Amino acid sequence: MSISQPTILVTGGAGYIGSHAALALKKAGYEVVVLDNLAYGHPEIIKDVVQVELVVGDTSDRVLLDKLFATRNIAAVMHFAAYIAVGESVREPGKYYRNNVSSTLNLLEAAIAGGVNKFVFSSTCAVYGMPKEIPMTENHPHAPLSPYAASKDMVERILADFDRAYGLKSVAFRYFNASGADPSGNLGEDHAPETHLIPLALLTALGKRKSLYIFGTDYDTPDGTAVRDYIHVNDLADAHVLGLKYLLDGGESQVFNLGNGSGFSVREVIETARKVTGKEIPAIESDRRPGDAPILVGSSDKARKILGWNPNYADLSKIISHAWQWHQKRHG
Ligand code: UDP
Repeated sequence: MSISQPTILVTGGAGYIGSHAALALKKAGYEVVVLDNLAYGHPEIIKDVVQVELVVGDTSDRVLLDKLFATRNIAAVMHFAAYIAVGESVREPGKYYRNNVSSTLNLLEAAIAGGVNKFVFSSTCAVYGMPKEIPMTENHPHAPLSPYAASKDMVERILADFDRAYGLKSVAFRYFNASGADPSGNLGEDHAPETHLIPLALLTALGKRKSLYIFGTDYDTPDGTAVRDYIHVNDLADAHVLGLKYLLDGGESQVFNLGNGSGFSVREVIETARKVTGKEIPAIESDRRPGDAPILVGSSDKARKILGWNPNYADLSKIISHAWQWHQKRHG
């Protein structure tokens, strides 16, 4: 006799973090249905690597959502689908509020109407804005600096209100810098256009770009460049599985930081990428990028304590070497 596992609806599952989480869920024995509009997602990754069902559609489509909630035995939603480019969000705020807030509201209302009251949400440390203390805890005040960050902050507020009104239980994860790739080399980060430091350094190592820019060398940090807390995408995926189990076991709504608690400067990241790849990686010193904080490092003690989360890949060389395997396979 086979016992059927709960089905998890993973929106944005064809994207970077969503695809790693979908694979982790599948490995943990859950049924997974990915909903992705393929604006940025990679369907071949779902078909060939993750090998779960892909429904092509948008979280703004209430008819589709109602159908999914009515026809699948969905126990919880994991919501990754969102636009993520900070600079673009400043230029086109409406696009971000429509997709990241309105469509999420649509998804939440459909979930409640469909009898689903467990929700895992991708948030960001960007909700905190400029740090007042390092490491940042979940109690740090919020001051989002961009429409992107504000859109995530608004959804966190909506989740709290939906708990009070409808008993929706949610876990919101505030990621620090998601990075790395599945150690298999079959799954990784592939944004177009790419804006993130580690993939840009690796694309430069592959000769796909001539050089990369160091945004700001006059920060009040040990080497003058900005410091970030890089967290392996598989460690994020593990946290999502733990967060889901926590909710399925009847846990109350929570917000958790997800980071390693240690910071690396832009120069240290580039130097580590040079060591891992054995390539030169020319880097040009340039102006600060507007809106960047000098240091973002998070305390994830709460996730460790409540979820029993324990990141496996705190070592930056490991994170970059996994990303390098993926980039060589994908773009080499
Ligand atoms: N960065 C950089 N050059 C680049 C891309 C990023 O110097 O081409 C810096 C950026 O200013 C930040 C850090 O690298 O201090 C990490 O940036 P990323 O865009 O990867 O992530 P974010 O911290 O914005 O989420």
